[in-house]
Amino acid sequence: MLSENVSGLEASATLAVAALCRQLRAQGRDILDLSAGEPDFRTPNFAAEAGIASIEQGFTHYTPVPGIPQLRDAIASYLESATGSRIDPAGIVVSNGAKQALFNACFTLFGPGDDVIVPVPYWTSYPEILKLARATPVMVRPADGAGDKLTVADLQAAVTPATRGIILNSPANPSGAVYSLEELDAIVRWAAGRNLWIISDEIYGRLCFTAERAASILDLDPSLLERAVLVDGASKAFAMTGWRIGFSYCAPKLAATFNALQSHVTSGAAAASQYAAVAVFAHEPRVQESVTAMVRLFRRRRDHLVTAMREHVPHAVFSVPDGAFYLFFRVDSCYGPGRNGSVEFCSWLLEKTGVALVPGIAFGDDRAVRLSYAAPEAEVLGAVDRIAAALR
Ligand code: PMP
Ligand code: GLU
Repeated sequence: MLSENVSGLEASATLAVAALCRQLRAQGRDILDLSAGEPDFRTPNFAAEAGIASIEQGFTHYTPVPGIPQLRDAIASYLESATGSRIDPAGIVVSNGAKQALFNACFTLFGPGDDVIVPVPYWTSYPEILKLARATPVMVRPADGAGDKLTVADLQAAVTPATRGIILNSPANPSGAVYSLEELDAIVRWAAGRNLWIISDEIYGRLCFTAERAASILDLDPSLLERAVLVDGASKAFAMTGWRIGFSYCAPKLAATFNALQSHVTSGAAAASQYAAVAVFAHEPRVQESVTAMVRLFRRRRDHLVTAMREHVPHAVFSVPDGAFYLFFRVDSCYGPGRNGSVEFCSWLLEKTGVALVPGIAFGDDRAVRLSYAAPEAEVLGAVDRIAAALR
């Protein structure tokens, strides 16, 4: 009998499909893995070199739990130059990926009896992290035609006396939806008026096709942010998923509690990874160039993918993503014996064509599947051909 701490806990579906792909490839199967979302670009050389240099210089010991001062300062100036807001480095806690920053925030802010609103479709780890905190995720689906974005009216209809917070994610995984500044302002203003916590996961903030970056909660009036936590990191914008560097930014007093929690769970993030991250958050022109080049490629791929899907897989229903690197599309009109529901559909597709997608049920929508186009364009378009042939 295991502890109630993990009762009902599900392993990450995104990471599980990725692991299955590695296994099938090792058996010699021809697999097009469009499951886990991580940029298929190399970490910029200057960042990797900074990590290597730090090892050679002997920076291989424990680091301060909330991050080395150089990194917290670099992140503070990165956020300041992006948004123009004043950032206090004491509010920054560096962690092992954005995932740990989300965990720190949810575990600290929410507990038994607390409801937390999670917009559908959601990134698969939000409900699980909330369940680990023994809080209750309350899934709220935006109205049809709202472009997968919640409005104040949706929140108003969902709020109860037990509601303690909302998790926002823009650009969103898996829908690619991007909230405008006005939409973000309306939600955060509404939440602030009810003393609700906002956790704003902005890990895809730079991967935006409608502007140089997506609107951030830091663009809002600071008086609205007393109960807000920003989560971001190096994983996506800088192609550094394996380095495991994320961070949170919030009021310094709250950051001190994240620090205390993290001091008992993992301590500071890996030293070499932090030195590598200093190089990217230093925000020099070469950093901007590498992000811009990557976003340009993602955008081109998105355009080609959308065109190919419309032409070859007309049954698929989707909104065109404005950011991140996923296409979340409905396939329920293709369900039938042996492929009923998103899990069976993905298993059927993988078996028949070697294309690996993630079942939509992992994101709260069993009618859909997620394709990550963070893969070479030939593979992405090849996958569309295989899906089209299988459904013909
Ligand atoms: N938030 C979202 C929306 C994500 O898709 C991911 C996936 N990587 C994360 C957080 C976690 O990022 P990290 O790899 O830095 O832990
Ligand atoms: N966030 C990425 C995804 O959704 C990476 C895998 C994970 O951490 O879930 O695929």
